[in-house]
Amino acid sequence: MLIDTHCHWDASEFGDAGGHLRAQAQARGVSLCVVPAVQVSNFESVRRWAHTYGDAYALGIHPLFALDATEAHLSQLDQALGDLAGDPRLVAVGEIGIDGFVPWLQTPGAKVKMHAIYRAQLRLARKHHLPVVLHVRKSADVLLKHLRELPVVGGIGHAFNGSVQQAQAFVRMGFVLGFGGTATFETAVRIRRLAATLSHTDLVIETDGPDIPPHWIYATELQRSAGMAQGLNSSVHLPEIAQVVANLRGVHVALLAAQTCANAKRVLPKLDALIDTSL
Ligand SMILES: [Zn+2]
Repeated sequence: MLIDTHCHWDASEFGDAGGHLRAQAQARGVSLCVVPAVQVSNFESVRRWAHTYGDAYALGIHPLFALDATEAHLSQLDQALGDLAGDPRLVAVGEIGIDGFVPWLQTPGAKVKMHAIYRAQLRLARKHHLPVVLHVRKSADVLLKHLRELPVVGGIGHAFNGSVQQAQAFVRMGFVLGFGGTATFETAVRIRRLAATLSHTDLVIETDGPDIPPHWIYATELQRSAGMAQGLNSSVHLPEIAQVVANLRGVHVALLAAQTCANAKRVLPKLDALIDTSL
């Protein structure tokens, strides 16, 4: 059994194919996916997805949408987290965080806003006693700085790309680190070393579909400019990602699956009941 701890199944890239692909992933052993929201307008679609396909979801405002976020949106998030507190499929606040890479978010004004939206959502996670799913892109230290001031119960540092020291700092704060498509590229030396050496208690696996394709469906810039389509990444590819991470760690994939499922359930405790009832 595998858990995809991060797949945006409601993304428009999937069109009508989502249900079919989800069934394919299920047939390949992916029993559960966590579907994070990115902005208030997709809260309902991730909730509906989770209830339709037996998955889990998170509600939050992604840093790429932080500039559009308003006080009213934060109140809507607060309200939704309260109204849906009894929903066993709502497992976290997410996807939230800070993006230190996208150029238009690196101006002083954009940073102030993005940091404020992140902090407001850490406060909501604390208020509603929920873990968080973090977007970490060239932002590990600043995410940690805010977390030290506003600690939460824990969660997942998704698509983690930081150093060993940063990884350990997240672990000390109750987090595990998510590994996915990037780890399948031989050039991702630092991420692969981290995936290979972290304690078995500190990692989970994810696809981040439809983003971050693994190397076997990745089209290079040259191929794309020649008209080759970018392959569609989804939880369907999780078994191969699990195999890559297992190979890096020198363990059998079944052991990696068991370890990463246990870790996902530990940091997102509501997953436990979902998996037991689906058996
Ligand atoms: Zn994401």
